Amino acid sequence: MNGGKPAAFDSVAAFFAQALAIEVEAAERYTLLADQMEVHNNKEIAAIFLKMAAIESEHRREIVRRAGDTLPTGIPADVSWTNPDGPEAIAFEDVHYLMTPRQALLLARFNEERAARYFESIAASATDPRISAFAAEMATDERLHVSWVDQWLETFAADELDRADDPDPPVYSE
Ligand code: ZN
Repeated sequence: MNGGKPAAFDSVAAFFAQALAIEVEAAERYTLLADQMEVHNNKEIAAIFLKMAAIESEHRREIVRRAGDTLPTGIPADVSWTNPDGPEAIAFEDVHYLMTPRQALLLARFNEERAARYFESIAASATDPRISAFAAEMATDERLHVSWVDQWLETFAADELDRADDPDPPVYSE
């Protein structure tokens, strides 16, 4: 597929492509955040992020299932997790490895909120009632994720969240 004619795909296909991109991105980012928390020896929060990666992967499979033949390949859907401080995508290679659990949770919260808003806007505006209903389901799930993150931010002690354990600091030799 090339030439990039926007009219070449309908809004249903575009919705599924975008929804899929959101969930693929979320699953990948949670997996990376879990790795980051492992670096901090914060196994509890690493486990939370791994669970979230699994949940978003389940969303991904559900979208593929629902999209069926509607999901064409080659639709240039793209989404990147962004930083609360700015609209630009986060290059995870550039994320400082000393990101604290709190920073990681706030990052997750920001992007869960963003996903929820996307699905809410589709639910409100889609002309296809099936898309509207499915988007509403997805929005409900993503809203729930936002509230989970809020709970984790409350549940974990402040020192646990703000500590950036660095058991093996790198040596800057030059
Ligand atoms: Zn989510």
